[in-house]
Order: sequence, then C-alpha cells, then structure tokens
Amino acid sequence: MKRIQMVDLQSQYQKIKDEVDRGIQEVIDSAAFIKGASVSRFEQHLATYTGAKHVIPVGNGTDALQIALMALGLQLGDEVITPTFTFIATAEVVALLGLKPVVVDVDWDTMNISLDAVRRAITDKTKAIVPVHLFGQCAEMEGLLALAKEKGLYVVEDACQAIGSEYRFSDGTINQAGTMGDIGCTSFFPSKNLGCYGDGGAIFTNDDTLAAKMRAIANHGMVVRYYHEMVGVNSRLDSIQAAVLDVKLQYLDEYIASRQKAAAYYDKAFAGNEKILIPARNAQSTHVYHQYTLRLQGVDRDALRAELGDKGIPAMVYYPVPLHLQKAYRDDRYAEGDFPVAERLSGCVLSLPMHTELDEEQLEYITRSVLDGV
Ligand SMILES: *Cc1c(COP(=O)(O)O)cnc(C)c1O
Repeated sequence: MKRIQMVDLQSQYQKIKDEVDRGIQEVIDSAAFIKGASVSRFEQHLATYTGAKHVIPVGNGTDALQIALMALGLQLGDEVITPTFTFIATAEVVALLGLKPVVVDVDWDTMNISLDAVRRAITDKTKAIVPVHLFGQCAEMEGLLALAKEKGLYVVEDACQAIGSEYRFSDGTINQAGTMGDIGCTSFFPSKNLGCYGDGGAIFTNDDTLAAKMRAIANHGMVVRYYHEMVGVNSRLDSIQAAVLDVKLQYLDEYIASRQKAAAYYDKAFAGNEKILIPARNAQSTHVYHQYTLRLQGVDRDALRAELGDKGIPAMVYYPVPLHLQKAYRDDRYAEGDFPVAERLSGCVLSLPMHTELDEEQLEYITRSVLDGV
C-alpha cells in the first residue's frame, strides 16, 4: 500500500508533471518572474471559473484578508466579527490593523459561524463580518448577507479552504465561495484545494471601486508608478506560482470530485457508529472537503490519534485551541466557557487524511483502523 499522508502532493504532481514543468520553464525562459503573462492569464481563468467580476492575485491568503480589510476604510477600534473556531489568520489581520476582533461561537453541526451568535454580537461599532467557510463548506451566507444588509455591515468571506464550493440561495441562484460577500479571499498554500508550489492567494469582488482600491493597496498603494495614493503593502502572486495554478485550475473540478468520493467512502464506513459523527452538511452548500473532520463522542481523541499514527495513519486536530483561548488573543472580554460549542469541538475533532490521491485500499485501511480504535 502506498504510504498514507494527510495530503499527497507528490502523486498529484506526477500526473500533471509535464504540463507544470512546461509552465514553470516558460516563466524561467521569459524571466518575467513578477507580473508575467502567466499571472494575468491565471487571473482571467480564475475569474471565469468562479464567476467573480474581479480577481486580484496576491502573495498569500492572509495578505488577501488584510488587503480586503484595508480597502474598507475602517477606523481604529471598529469591530469585526469572526468565528472563534478557525485558523488564526482572520483575527490576526483584524488585530494588526488596529481593529477589534469580536469572536463568536459556531454551529455544532456545520462547525461554521453561528448566525444567531453574529446577530447577538453586533454593536454600534461593528463594521464587518468575516465568515470562514470552514473545511470546505460555505457558512450560512443567505442569513449572514441579509443580516449584514439590514445592519449596514460589510461581509468579507474567508474562502481559503473552500474554493469551488457552491452555495444555493433560496431563489435558486448559485454562487461560488468567495463571490457572495463584498469581498472574498482565498489561499493557494500548497495543501489547499487549489494549491501552488509556494505561497499564493487571491481576492474576489464584484465591486469595481473596491477592486481598483485593492489592486492599488496590494501594490504599495500605487496607481500611477511612484505616485502613492494610500498606504499599501507589497503582495504579489509570482509568475511561477501562477503558471502552476493555471495548470491545476483545469483539474480543480476533478480534484473536488476525488475528495468528495473519498468523503463518501468515509461517510458510509462511519455511518451509524454512535461514537463517530461524520461531517454534517449544510443543505445550501456543496462541500469540497478541504478537511474531512470527525467529531468523536466518548472517545479518547488523542489516544486514538496516537494509535492511528502507530499504524502509519496521520490524523490532525484542526483546531486544538479556539481563538479566544489563544495566548496572543486573550482578552478580558472573554473567558473559558464563553463559547461552549467551539471549546467542545476543539476537544473532539479529528481530521483524517483527505486529498485527491486516496485509493480504496488506503481508505479501507484508514476506516477499519478508526473503527477498531474508537
Ligand atoms: C490557509 C488559511 C488562511 C491563510 O492562508 P495563507 O495563504 O496561508 O496565508 C486563512 N484562513 C483560513 C481559514 C485558512 O485555512
């Protein structure tokens, strides 16, 4: 049996090696390492794929979030609501910009930001909501967008884990993750569903003004060369990464289907086991399974993880500590016990190997080992 990994990027590369190598070589031959033709080509292809009017390629997903928030013209101390059960980047950029991260609890089933919790957290100082489409499934966007509209708030989607996920509104409209709010952000970190071979990210918007502003911010606040209209940053997707991504984008639907197939295998194997809760589905969203995350009930999660490790099966805890209990973000507004769902999830989640190259032999071995271990 092939060695089991959380993500198998080597096997994936072998299948597209010729195309990827050719793309990289073209960039090297052209020596246009920054702002080369591959970047604008990928930008256009990604706009077509996602349906976003504007795609702004940037250096990574964290920069995408930062640039998005910089473009909104927020004032020091303005509040930005984000889930407490997620990767740190969202709260980090809010804090870095002198804004106030207001974290809220998540739903037990989908593990995504709780609409009720957002509603309760809104104050006079709230200016934006940053929902995270956690593990590859869209947050409850219809409710969030309606609430944001009612209260006059911006919505910046963190779609770093959810590129290609589709959300269906009650009127039948279908939109992709990252294209529903005022701004959407994604990451091309290697292990993400559309990953490059280094760092990369992109911003989506349908708003012309915001798009122009974010393009300028990502380029030192510059519109005309050496004339700086606002404080900016230096954040670019480089030409080699864009060349890799332009190849991989053509396979994204195939990659998503492979992940969904592996997830269906897991779902079926674990269904009905009262100690294992399989990922719950939001009926309005497809799930692209950036992670396949179990919630374990009455199981010593860490012992199971160690046991799987001994059998050559990696498994990860995303995320062991919610944001409000992280040392850097400890805040006298919050105490342990304030966000019970997130805290409970941190103690019981376990993500299994999930990628595009899992075969049936591996899936059989993984599921059998988990069932033996619980
Ligand atoms: C990966 C990720 C980010 C950050 O992306 P980078 O490209 O690593 O900066 C932000 N938010 C979420 C939810 C992520 O998973």
